[in-house]
Amino acid sequence: MTTPAPANCYPTPEILVIDDESRIRDACRIVLKEKGYDVEVAPDGDQGLRMIEEKHFDVILVDLMLPSISGFDVLQAVRSHHPDTAVIVITGYATLEHSIEAMKKGAFDFIPKPFTPDQLRTVVDKSLRYTRALQDISESKSRLGVMVNRLTNGVMTTDSVKRIVQANPAFLHMIGYHGEEVIGKGVDEVINNDEIKESIENALNMSPETTGEIISEITVPGMKGSVEKIYSASCAPFRGRTSENLGTITVLHDITALKQMDQMKSDFVSMVSHEVRSPMNSLLMQLKIILDGLAGDVTDKQKEILQRASEKILNLNNLVSELLDLSKIESGLIAHEKEQVDISKLLTEQYTFHSPYAAEKNIDIHLDLAEDLPLLFVNRWNMEEVFANLITNAIKYSPEDSSIAVTASLENDYMKVEVSDTGFGIDEEYLEQIFTRFFRVKDEKSRTIQGTGLGLSIVKSIIESHHGKISVKSTPGKGTTFTVLLPLQQN
Ligand code: ADP
Repeated sequence: MTTPAPANCYPTPEILVIDDESRIRDACRIVLKEKGYDVEVAPDGDQGLRMIEEKHFDVILVDLMLPSISGFDVLQAVRSHHPDTAVIVITGYATLEHSIEAMKKGAFDFIPKPFTPDQLRTVVDKSLRYTRALQDISESKSRLGVMVNRLTNGVMTTDSVKRIVQANPAFLHMIGYHGEEVIGKGVDEVINNDEIKESIENALNMSPETTGEIISEITVPGMKGSVEKIYSASCAPFRGRTSENLGTITVLHDITALKQMDQMKSDFVSMVSHEVRSPMNSLLMQLKIILDGLAGDVTDKQKEILQRASEKILNLNNLVSELLDLSKIESGLIAHEKEQVDISKLLTEQYTFHSPYAAEKNIDIHLDLAEDLPLLFVNRWNMEEVFANLITNAIKYSPEDSSIAVTASLENDYMKVEVSDTGFGIDEEYLEQIFTRFFRVKDEKSRTIQGTGLGLSIVKSIIESHHGKISVKSTPGKGTTFTVLLPLQQN
């Protein structure tokens, strides 16, 4: 068994010298062997050709003026048998025309007689660097090819005019393509999915300063009774030395199982919440009957205990309701019923509703709405939920005598609603996490404030299901601003 050469360690170069002058053959052999190369020699073209047919050489030095077969014929034979071999032409008469002709016919370089050992070493080393570079390129190309073809993710690359340069079997399988060879075909011919095509178009149009990728979720209908597949598709441009977009790379990742798991989780939460809510409600009712004295006299002490028990159950009930909302939103059940909603009116109602609660803490709420805000095609109940949550939080997480501002305006293609408070603020380390389910900041100030940690995750899910964005800025001790952007055009 032969041991493969380690990466970047090349085998000993094989060199053939074809020259009818023994002086030249011997000189070449001595000089090149000193460099550690394997050198073989041939006195004429016939023998040279036989050797070339039997063996692969990295570099061949051939005299142009040979008896019988000429150096040009040898050059031609090498080009057709071993295109990766570098041929150096030795020119006896040093004629420029011959050398140029030889270069035209594919010689790598030429060396005129007489030459010094140094000149010989230089030209051979240069040609070896060239053949090794070719070898490296072809090896890494083949390595990459095998790797990409064996990936379970779908990978496809295009050039700058959206012609397919490479597409692995997984990609073709995922898009349901069973036609003939795709290389060289336009993406429109091969891909049916509009979202992938749009991502490729957008990636190609990305400006050089933009990094990152375009991520979308695509659904491919199942074939012959099989279930539909959901893929996460990411598309990015690849760039040349001057940052111009040379083409795109699209990667498809099968997330069907993840989505199904998520759905099952939501269904489960929804089912459990439902089942838990009714017994809790009847528990509350029964406690109320006792508290109201309808089941006999109750002492003040008993009343106090039962009152606290009722509050705990009420909190639990809130948690269950929010869980139910969240699972409904996640199953996509909620944002369906959309209508034209006057957000200014909705915010004014929210302002009016929450003002008394704010007044209890002597908090001043200020409402500032830009004039003539357009109607938005959204789910009314969802929007009430979003702004009620943000305003309640602003009141909950602010000390007495602070202030809250609710503003709405237009910004590019979005309606921007901001809820700012001068409350406790949120430490930077928690800012990312506050939108996660059940996350609550546990510090001295908020420890005693009741909550479930679900409000903001509901808000975020709603905003995202309306193709909007939510962000937060906060300075501990100074206050917090939540910014909601809702697209003016809802699809
Ligand atoms: P909850 O209020 O029920 O705990 P949320 O999901 O609404 O749950 O909020 C998550 C956490 O984010 C809160 O526990 C609180 O620590 C923090 N938070 C939310 N809004 C504000 C705000 N306006 N100011 C300070 N902290 C806030």
